[in-house]
Amino acid sequence: MKTIVPILCLCAAVLMAQDQLADPFGSPPNKLKRAVDLEKCVNGHKTLKDVEIAYGRGAGNDPEVAKKLERGDAILGGCIPDSREHWVMCRTCGLRFDDTFDSWRDERWCSEDELRLMRSPLLQGFPIAGADASERIVYLRWFSREALSGESVSFWTTAAEKDIIAALRKWVPKEVKIKAPKQQSEDRSRNSWKWQADGNSFELNYLKVFEPKPETHLQIEWHRAARQE
Ligand SMILES: [Zn+2]
Repeated sequence: MKTIVPILCLCAAVLMAQDQLADPFGSPPNKLKRAVDLEKCVNGHKTLKDVEIAYGRGAGNDPEVAKKLERGDAILGGCIPDSREHWVMCRTCGLRFDDTFDSWRDERWCSEDELRLMRSPLLQGFPIAGADASERIVYLRWFSREALSGESVSFWTTAAEKDIIAALRKWVPKEVKIKAPKQQSEDRSRNSWKWQADGNSFELNYLKVFEPKPETHLQIEWHRAARQE
């Protein structure tokens, strides 16, 4: 499926970028909730299921895994396994429970046009730099008590660094100083910025890779600040 294949390709850099996230962008607790603990999703559906995660590049090619994927008993993870062994998913609306944010999460790949329609006013105007971002945008949103409590947009682009920086500077608050990351190693460099606006926490992650071709991965994420209390 179109939605599955690119996830495998993204994995290493995205995971590394997300490693950088600190509170309130933290990691999942050690003990993950199960369907039986949650009973229903944020939309009130009781059709919850613990779904195992198949990690590794090409995991879906394994016939056993492929059967589970088809039955909805498994989903593909990234190519690098992490401590998470399952997701609680709703079979009616497709939301999954995110222990990190104690909320329900909707995760999808979308085009720039679809993103324009789905993203909240808080992310309207965030620059999707470079036409190659189309179809390669990962959009996540979190819901607590049916209200939107956070969003994340990430994508790769081959746009020129000066254009990316100029577009970001126009979007972030003036007090956040956006600069291109210094090259920290031969093949990648990164930078991130955090700020608060209207009571919400924002984090922007900028990752540049130089091999096999120069490309930049941008991720913007916000969470309702109530989480910090
Ligand atoms: Zn549901």
